[in-house]
Formats: sequence, C-alpha cells, structure tokens
Amino acid sequence: MTAPVRLAVDLIACDGRGLCAELLPELITLDDWGYPLLSGRTVPAALRGEVSAAVQLCPRLALRLEAGAGAAGSRVRPGAGSTSQAR
Ligand code: SF4
Repeated sequence: MTAPVRLAVDLIACDGRGLCAELLPELITLDDWGYPLLSGRTVPAALRGEVSAAVQLCPRLALRLEAGAGAAGSRVRPGAGSTSQAR
C-alpha cells in the first residue's frame, strides 16, 4: 500500500498555460485566466503514473506531490474539500 498524496501547485512559479490540465483532466481544471484549480482529492492509485509525469513535464516545475491529507499552498476548486489556497 502506498501513502496518500495530493497535488499542489506553486502559483508564483506557474505561468498559467495549462499543460497540467490537459494531462490530468481528472484532477485539474483551469480558471478563467488559465491557472490550475486542483480537485483537492487524494491522487487515486490508478493515476499515480500520470500525476508523476505531469509533475515532471510542468515547464515551470510548479507542480509537486505532497504527502498526507493536507495540501498547503495548493489551490483547489470551490467546494472540493480542501482548505488552503494561494494567490
Ligand atoms: S503545467 Fe505547470 S506551469 Fe503550466 S499551468 Fe500547470 S502548473 Fe502551471
């Protein structure tokens, strides 16, 4: 069994071009300006490979995986269940 992880985004580093949302539509949508909104949910085991690829492919290295239930610094869709937001 693997430890639960969540996606987080550094919105200072992010350039808002949206590659991550194309790679992970299950977990990321874009706001009106093209910046990512995360689902806030734990990354499903079936998506771990895709999530790791998206983290590596982010051109600004703005995506990261965080261990545990919290995702401090991440920005989530309204009503998605997480409590933190940056920007
Ligand atoms: S791929 Fe990286 S730089 Fe592009 S929108 Fe997503 S987090 Fe931001």
